Amino acid sequence: MQSENQFIDLPVLTEKNITLALKREDLIHPVISGNKYRKLKYNLLYAKEEGFRTLLSFGGAFSNHILAVAAAGNENSFETIGIIRGEELQQKLGLNPTLSRARNLGMQLKFISRDHYRRKGDTDFIEALKKEFGDFYIIPEGGTNGLAIKGCEEILTEGDKQYDVVTTCVGTGGTIAGIINSSSSHQEIIGFSALKGGFLSDEIRTMTTGDNWKLKTNYHFGGYAKVSETLVDFINNFKTETRIPLDPIYTGKMLFGLLDMIKNDNFAPGTRILAIHTGGLQGIAGMNRVLKKKNLPLLDI
Ligand SMILES: *Cc1c(COP(=O)(O)O)cnc(C)c1O
Repeated sequence: MQSENQFIDLPVLTEKNITLALKREDLIHPVISGNKYRKLKYNLLYAKEEGFRTLLSFGGAFSNHILAVAAAGNENSFETIGIIRGEELQQKLGLNPTLSRARNLGMQLKFISRDHYRRKGDTDFIEALKKEFGDFYIIPEGGTNGLAIKGCEEILTEGDKQYDVVTTCVGTGGTIAGIINSSSSHQEIIGFSALKGGFLSDEIRTMTTGDNWKLKTNYHFGGYAKVSETLVDFINNFKTETRIPLDPIYTGKMLFGLLDMIKNDNFAPGTRILAIHTGGLQGIAGMNRVLKKKNLPLLDI
């Protein structure tokens, strides 16, 4: 399955003579949007081949990945279990659009404390889960493993070789690793980190041997899932001007950063850029609840 590249028309692009297209991976599936679809594809095939009937994964309150696993399980006849960070969410499940949608898709949710959640990689922790739920296929938090990277290698197509620069959002780094693997050496891949902290470059290096990439770490707006009025205004204006919705955790921050770099002449005139819209739009509803509580302007729906 391939998604369409859509050319963006904005005054700054004309002024700086930059071509920018967005690869609409957000439109690839009605619920399993963007890179989460790519990351699950080969994991689902493997789990089926190996005879697993249940998928288990981990995530937080807004997790695009948790909802993607719930929807993919529902579509492919797997039982699904979500181990969720934060015991306090259990009482407020009805107020959380991501988690209530996951539950409506049949996912069994288990809420655990943040301390407990940190131990999710430990053998005794997994053994206890097996006692509770029976056998399952584990998909790591954020969905990144070797099969996920293989799926993300299918994001770029032959036709995309015409682009000089490809940009994507970075959480765990699995998506950018797949993109780097299938890119051409003449292309530069730029990742925009959605989290604070410099450890991500090392993580990416463990997943790919390509060296035609760099990571921008100054557009996270204070850290993972942190938002500001500036970011909300940017996302709302971008939607008004292009009719393309962006999410506040990943793609909004990437486009903000990319247009800022273009404004500041980080790219030579004539550069052709392809930005991957990795999806995540389901998170807007949950973020609006947070913004409302803080009396900040809301994201347009
Ligand atoms: C999960 C996610 C990412 C991050 O992908 P990684 O492979 O973890 O780096 C980027 N964008 C969106 C919309 C996501 O849901």
